[in-house]
Amino acid sequence: MIIIDGSEGEGGGQVLRYACALALLTGTPFTIENIRGGREKPGLMRQHVTAIEAACVIGGAECTGLAVGSNSLSFRPGRVTPGDYHFAVGTAGSTGLVLQTILVPLMLADAPSRLVIEGGTHAMAAPPFEFLERTLLPVINRMGPTVSARLVRHGFFPRGGGRIEVDIVPAPLRPIACLARGDLRRVGATAILAGIPFDVGDRELKTAAKTLADWPQDAFATRQLPAEQGPGNALILEAAFEHVTEVMSAFGKIGVPAERLAKTAARRMGGYLACDAFAGPYLQDQLLLPFALAGDGVFSTVKVSQHTLTAAALVARFVGRGFRFRSCEDGATLVEVVSA
Ligand code: AMP
Repeated sequence: MIIIDGSEGEGGGQVLRYACALALLTGTPFTIENIRGGREKPGLMRQHVTAIEAACVIGGAECTGLAVGSNSLSFRPGRVTPGDYHFAVGTAGSTGLVLQTILVPLMLADAPSRLVIEGGTHAMAAPPFEFLERTLLPVINRMGPTVSARLVRHGFFPRGGGRIEVDIVPAPLRPIACLARGDLRRVGATAILAGIPFDVGDRELKTAAKTLADWPQDAFATRQLPAEQGPGNALILEAAFEHVTEVMSAFGKIGVPAERLAKTAARRMGGYLACDAFAGPYLQDQLLLPFALAGDGVFSTVKVSQHTLTAAALVARFVGRGFRFRSCEDGATLVEVVSA
């Protein structure tokens, strides 16, 4: 039984999701105290409960303490059973983060799975659908499994109501080296609007264009969704290289000017484009689980995040394999799988 202090390191929901995934992958039970102890409102939120419920369902796990607001829980994994599953967060809680909890166990299962996940597809502090589809899954697919995702309906905060479908064909994970991006093939900035005035998207694109000044004019576009999918607004910035695609995002929020959120996302993209590292600030922590399970491998990344350091420490406790972080002269960091 592994005992985790959920307030350590990053102290967020990711500790919990990765612990469930690692428990299913290794058969090791865990207890977590001080859940999301590093957050303003600690404890389980609806989306965490759904993610853990999903882990229980696919992994025949027994869980005590699983309720909204709970600060501790115990998780005893069973056997992972692939199949057709449907999970609904019920709020705008992230569909991508439910997927983050169960993806790796299902892609190492002994038969394919099909998932339908309902909730938020474009919400703050979580991977938007475009990131899953274009940034994360192509790297996963290079490692052996075949995972494809479809966005059926957008879901924004606070209404949710989005839907993604994911097909997973398992395969053993092979170690890979993700060091070079290759040539830049395409860039794009899309302001997505659902029931939000057109000028909001227009202002976001104009602001982003100031920072991403060398992007061609036709890379900037507005996409209007049916109003009944909203209200909601997201800005998706994409840089597709030969070997990796980076997606940076920002999500409209009442009280936050469109210019401000567009500027933040564009600066983040500018920072990524200014260096040569393979993985951006979000892909780095999401690669740790598959890389650790592959048993070897290396990727280069931008400045290492607290999410990544926390996840790396957790992975080492479950699988006995850790990561070495080495700074390179060009400012990138090499993340290598090592035996703990
Ligand atoms: P936590 O904050 O602990 O709930 O974890 C959030 C998870 O979502 C981490 O795996 C982050 O890498 C990921 N994440 C947060 N924001 C984004 C974003 N804008 N794009 C992609 N992934 C994100």
